[in-house]
Amino acid sequence: MRKAIIFDFDGVIHNTFDFHRAKVKEFTGVALSESEYRDIHNGNFFAHKIDRLKDVDWPAYGGFIYHDISNLKIEGEMEKALLRLSKKFDLFIVSSGGTKNISDYLKNNNVAEIFKEVLGSEPHKSKIDKFKFIFSKYKLDPNDCIFITDTLGDILEANVVNIKTLAVDFGYHGREMLRKGNPFKIVSSLSELLKIIDE
Ligand SMILES: [Mg+2]
Repeated sequence: MRKAIIFDFDGVIHNTFDFHRAKVKEFTGVALSESEYRDIHNGNFFAHKIDRLKDVDWPAYGGFIYHDISNLKIEGEMEKALLRLSKKFDLFIVSSGGTKNISDYLKNNNVAEIFKEVLGSEPHKSKIDKFKFIFSKYKLDPNDCIFITDTLGDILEANVVNIKTLAVDFGYHGREMLRKGNPFKIVSSLSELLKIIDE
């Protein structure tokens, strides 16, 4: 039975922190400090407590950034790592971003075909539901999956369905924040990540 790797998108496959912080400001007129924008990701993104963002139409925001995000260029090192992992594992993406935005980013970077499925913010906002959907559709046991993410909120959602998390500290959250979710391991580079997966 093949094992699966489930990737978060923002902050893992592509570091979109500055991109989104700037675009959210452009779209909503709300300027968030770096730490405010970081803290939105301490739980599920859509459950954040920032009052100034409570009426934002996130699907419309997805349309607003579509052209720019789908045309970002993937880092060469990330592309190589994904290609290598796809030879041994089934790859998925579970994200709070728009499914079309991510799918077209992957297409434009010629890596779409190495992913089994991309699950963005529609139809489920909860990552817990998206994990369960993958387990049942692809008949996967949580023990045969690993989730790679950069935020505490994601780790907490993965913990609910007993999926092991490998956290990266080169995305939205640093080590201290990630540690609060008690991830399996925290890594600081792609080479470190590949080494742990090989083991
Ligand atoms: Mg992320």
